[in-house]
Formats: sequence, structure tokens, C-alpha cells
Amino acid sequence: MWQNKNSKMPAKSHRKKPLHLRAEQPQCKIRGKPALKQANTMKKEQIIQFFSTLQAANPHPQTELVYSSPFELLIAVLLSAQATDVSVNKATQTLYKVANTPQAMLQLGQEGLEAHIKTIGLYRSKAKHILQTCQILLEQHQSQVPDNREALEALPGVGRKTANVVLNVAFGQPTMAVDTHIFRLGNRTGLAPGKTPLDVERKLLKRIPEAFMQHAHHWLILHGRYICKARTPECWRCAVANSCGYKNKTTAPKASLPKAKQPETKQRNATAATATATSTKPKQNAAKTAAYAAKTPHKPASAHKARA
Ligand code: SF4
Repeated sequence: MWQNKNSKMPAKSHRKKPLHLRAEQPQCKIRGKPALKQANTMKKEQIIQFFSTLQAANPHPQTELVYSSPFELLIAVLLSAQATDVSVNKATQTLYKVANTPQAMLQLGQEGLEAHIKTIGLYRSKAKHILQTCQILLEQHQSQVPDNREALEALPGVGRKTANVVLNVAFGQPTMAVDTHIFRLGNRTGLAPGKTPLDVERKLLKRIPEAFMQHAHHWLILHGRYICKARTPECWRCAVANSCGYKNKTTAPKASLPKAKQPETKQRNATAATATATSTKPKQNAAKTAAYAAKTPHKPASAHKARA
């Protein structure tokens, strides 16, 4: 590569972007390339087809968090940061039996609350934020969860994403909480390419037709969780593959060879089988994925054309 000997600057192709710019670029985990270049931005008619398909399969999508009041939902969402819905539901199942109001939660105190949620990551700081939030709800909101963004985001531990979930799920507002699944889908599918969650949120709010906005958040999360997975999207059995703008669609994995032809892997398989037998989690996940895939079956392109 040619370089001016008198210049102290490296040749253009060797210069690197400043770190803060590189960190913002969403990466595709499969090939390590910027995800923005892996998809064609979806057109309006593709977006309508995308959500029509998800809606037909699941007209009333629900959050997988278990709750029976806005307060229980708020606490569950606070606990769900960097934790699975399953682990949160396990903890709240016993917690809400003894404390499902701000007053009762405060009576538990830091140690009492920690004892209920210690199976969840970051439980100490989450317990602290929950108790501070309960104090504010008690003193400033008559123990009720406020239904506006400003008041919600003023609560300790409640950021934009948590506020969006509560406003959408508890109060039916057409907000868009961009979590890891939605950020990935927005970029990978070309639905709403953006460098930051806020970018993606704004584009989704602008590009998704109003008729789909109320449930769009759940459709995208469920699709990201069970089909358009982080490591490898399962495009070969994806119901919205015909409207998705992702360029490198995956094909079905090849069926594994018969056992007789794999003597060297026999031992490894036996170990894996034992590990699986002692853990119900993979089975539960597989069952949920299978149930979701059955609801949203893949249709060949010709089927969509025939319908149109
Ligand atoms: S799984 Fe579906 S939505 Fe995700 S990239 Fe593949 S075709 Fe697109």
C-alpha cells in the first residue's frame, strides 16, 4: 500500500475508527460484520406482510412474565434485567404471596426481600431499587404505579426500556421497549436498522403501521427468542422469511448420521444425554420453541404469492 514517507499518518486503510464509534456499530455474531450491511431495509408492504403473518399466528401475544397488577408487573420487569423470565417467575411466585403491594414490600426490608430474589442476578442492587421505588410509590403516588413516562423513569432502577414495557403491557400504550431481541431483529431483518437501542426504537415507532403497534413489541420479542435467535437465525423454518430483508438466510441443518457411523462420538453423546437428563431447562426451551414454531409455520414463497 502506497504511503507518503514524509507523512506521520498511517495509510488510510490502516486507520481505525475511534473506539466509541466502533463500539456502537451493531455486530452480526455469525460473521462478525456490521449487521447494518447484512440486510436490505424492508419496504412498507414487506413490513405489513411481516406483521400480518405474526398477527395471524398469535393475535393476542402476552408477556411471559407472570403478574396480576401493574405493581407486580413493574417489580417483575425490574427483576428481569439480565435475567430470564423463567427465573423471575420462579422468584415472584413466592414473593407475591407475601408481598404484592409497596407497603408489604417495604415491610419485608432489604434482607427479607433479598431472601426471595437471591436466585436472580444482581439481586442486592435490585432489592435496594425496589424498596426505594416502593417508598416513592407510597409517598407520591398513593401506592399506584404511574401511567406516564416521566413519573416512571423517576423511579429508582426504572429506565426507558422498563418504562416502555410497563406503559405498553399494563396501560396499553403503543410504546416499543427495545431489548436485545428487538435490537437484533430491527437490524438483522432490515425492519429498523439503527446503531443504538434508541435509534431502533424511534425507527420502529415510525415504520410499524399503527394497526400493529400495540402488540409489535411482543411479536418481535417472541420471534427473536424462538426463531430469529442471536447465534443462528432459523430462517429455514421462519414464517416471515419471505418479507424479511436479511441477506444471508440460513438453511436447515443436515440430519445427523446414524449412530453406527459415529463410533468416536458415542461417548460424547452419552455424556451429553446424561447432562440433559439431569436438567429440565433445555427440554423446556425446546418445547417452547417447538410450540412457537408450530404456531408460526414457514410458508414457501409461492404460497404468499398465491394469496396476494
Ligand atoms: S429467522 Fe426469519 S426474521 Fe430472522 S433473519 Fe431469518 S428469515 Fe429473517
